[in-house]
Amino acid sequence: MLSLKSLYQIGHGPSSSHTMGPARAMKIIKEEHPEITHFHVTLFNSLALTGKGHLTEDAMLESVFPSTIEFSTKIDTSKFANTIVVLGYKGDELIVTEEVKSTGGGRMVFVGRESEEVHVYPHKSFNEIKTYCRNNNLSLYDYVLQFEGPEIVQFLKEIWNAMKASVERGISTDGILPGPLKVQRKAKTLHEKAMIKEPTEITENRLVSAYAFAVSEENAAGGIIVTAPTCGACGVLPAVLYYMKKKHRFITEDRIIKALAVAGLFGNLIKHNASISGAVAGCQAEVGSACSMAASAHATLFNLNINQVEYAAEIAMEHHLGLTCDPINGYVQIPCIERNAVAALRAIDACGLAYFLSDSRKISFDTVIETMYQTGLSMHTDYKETSIGGLAKNYKGTDENCW
Ligand code: SF4
Repeated sequence: MLSLKSLYQIGHGPSSSHTMGPARAMKIIKEEHPEITHFHVTLFNSLALTGKGHLTEDAMLESVFPSTIEFSTKIDTSKFANTIVVLGYKGDELIVTEEVKSTGGGRMVFVGRESEEVHVYPHKSFNEIKTYCRNNNLSLYDYVLQFEGPEIVQFLKEIWNAMKASVERGISTDGILPGPLKVQRKAKTLHEKAMIKEPTEITENRLVSAYAFAVSEENAAGGIIVTAPTCGACGVLPAVLYYMKKKHRFITEDRIIKALAVAGLFGNLIKHNASISGAVAGCQAEVGSACSMAASAHATLFNLNINQVEYAAEIAMEHHLGLTCDPINGYVQIPCIERNAVAALRAIDACGLAYFLSDSRKISFDTVIETMYQTGLSMHTDYKETSIGGLAKNYKGTDENCW
């Protein structure tokens, strides 16, 4: 598995696979061939169908400015769900042709090139990690430190600072999100309402939701967020960490860093053994993964044991199995923003259940992510970030039953 540095990335929303990744690929090609004056880019499949709403073209253009790009789109099921084919020209001369796959979370794979990625972890499954930790008397955080090195702590501090900043910007900003849906930002109102009363269960629900809305709305507006593990699912983990940090004095910055490390480990396992891409495996792979990460982080904040941490992450994913990806008009807004809030609340509940029930559990984390992946591969493409099925199909601009 790769370093957590490739999982958590700070960048502009609204999509890691449709915005950040393709923009990064274009930047690499342009840096390798600075003589290129213009590009022709073909966006395939999910990128062809939802690229407009995800602002793919804008991000790619910005990354190679002042070079220009002519875009075309194509559906070709023999190609990976998110593929771009790039032709780079100097005047009329074709300089370079590249095919690049956007595999989720901003990761780009150049077809035909030797991978330069460095795998820092020797273990492939949670079971292997758990066995190693038990045999060497390590916590999951110790495990991350051992293979990443002490410099990961500073990296995670920067990630936490970026997450906090996105929450705080989100809860102090209102207005309408970009795009034809005219979605009203709600984080600020939710937060203000939650602050009126003394803490109750309703207040907890509002605050956690406000923090998740805050980050997801920032993402939808193209603001700076952290992929956790993706842009579309970026609100879940910060919402849980930010809420718990505010609520409990014993939760120090050091505990938050430990929780981020453990959450990253679970996100990495899903990324490498299954998928974190909505275009590959539906929203279970994005928001389901984020919920797993947040549940494991929450369990780490409260010093639960390794079985309980695993169980929390497993429950969080198990109850997202089958979740489809159907963003209306291709915008990462409906159902994405609200879904981040629901998943943040679910992560807290998953941890609570794991605390009491881990002795009787039957399903391991490895089994649930294998199941998620199989479910995703057999899911109809209409429900995998194409905006052809689900809410994207049935919402016609208004819903007369909403009154
Ligand atoms: S529905 Fe889920 S997977 Fe699809 S774009 Fe929204 S957050 Fe991402």
